[in-house]
Amino acid sequence: MRVLVVGGGIGGLSAAIALRSRGVDVDVVEINPKWDVYGVGIIQPANAIRALDELGLAEQAVEQGFAMKGSRFHTKDGHLLGEVPALDLLGPKYPPMNGITRPKLHAIFQDAVKASGADIRLGLTADSVGEDGSVAFSDGGSGEYDLVVGADGIHSKVRSLVFPGAPEPEYTGQIVWRYNVPRPDGLETLDMFVGANGKAGFVPLSPELMYILYIEAVPADEVKMPPEQLADIFRKRLAEFSAARTDCNDLQRVPASGADRLMAQPDQEGAMRHHHPRGYRSRSEPCRKQRAEARLARYTPLVLARQDEQGVT
Ligand SMILES: Cc1cc2nc3c(=O)[nH]c(=O)nc-3n(C[C@H](O)[C@H](O)[C@H](O)COP(=O)(O)OP(=O)(O)OC[C@H]3O[C@@H](n4cnc5c(N)ncnc54)[C@H](O)[C@@H]3O)c2cc1C
Repeated sequence: MRVLVVGGGIGGLSAAIALRSRGVDVDVVEINPKWDVYGVGIIQPANAIRALDELGLAEQAVEQGFAMKGSRFHTKDGHLLGEVPALDLLGPKYPPMNGITRPKLHAIFQDAVKASGADIRLGLTADSVGEDGSVAFSDGGSGEYDLVVGADGIHSKVRSLVFPGAPEPEYTGQIVWRYNVPRPDGLETLDMFVGANGKAGFVPLSPELMYILYIEAVPADEVKMPPEQLADIFRKRLAEFSAARTDCNDLQRVPASGADRLMAQPDQEGAMRHHHPRGYRSRSEPCRKQRAEARLARYTPLVLARQDEQGVT
């Protein structure tokens, strides 16, 4: 069996590693010639860690991340509203929740997919995908596949090639900000603060690092903000939380020169909003099932090139 995975992100690489472990021939094409990711972090709840474990990658992720003890919710002034301890679902071997920087997680996936023997080609995409499994690549090459996995992100080109009329994702009306700062001693939970206009939070990523997040509703025509003003805008958004942690004023630490490292972006998790981590785990979890059930199905979007009536899931 020969499989083409279009997209070398979390979903595509999870699929490629799982398929290779079953002896399937896998080609991966990734459009970004640098094959890099942006530099903030990601939260891995228990089911994401379990999926990584199936791929043989959980130990590395936990070693390079930060074991979180659960979530805490506060008013904007820092008064505790409630705690949600992370349930110990994975036994003694793994923490119930892990925070990790995206570059570290990406490197773990990249090393594993390279070691798996998958053929990886960068700066390349599929220009056409036929129902017989024939694929034309953007460099003029072509291939024949039993299965094509469209793991090319929320604006999937594979989806538009296979389902030309498929609706495009729509802006949910909310954006999320991220910024990495040093982790203060004692921050061992995902801490959220509910403000008048949005929610702020801290997420530990390593013993040294955490990120600040801020979620807010922004009209579509105001989402693109001048890069040189991002740090200033972010500081203003965070001003209402200044009393939140008296032991740690990190909410105010966004430096004036930090615009190049700040991100404000529309929610890219499909129809999901950034109030709880769930996108990534829903990308890796199906891979675990794929392996366990020895089935090549249940990716979104996943295209069975040689499909039967029910073949597109
Ligand atoms: C700001 C933010 C914070 C998030 N935080 C969390 C979190 O804490 N926990 C969590 O579980 N989830 C989180 N998510 C969701 C998570 O990042 C996504 O669910 C996950 O990245 C989806 O993986 P994917 O492989 O489907 O897509 P992507 O990660 O988008 O990867 C797609 C890959 O395909 C490549 N590609 C694109 N177009 C083409 C093409 N035409 N041809 C070839 N390759 C192509 C891209 O370069 C990329 O490498 C967050 C998302 C965002 C935006």
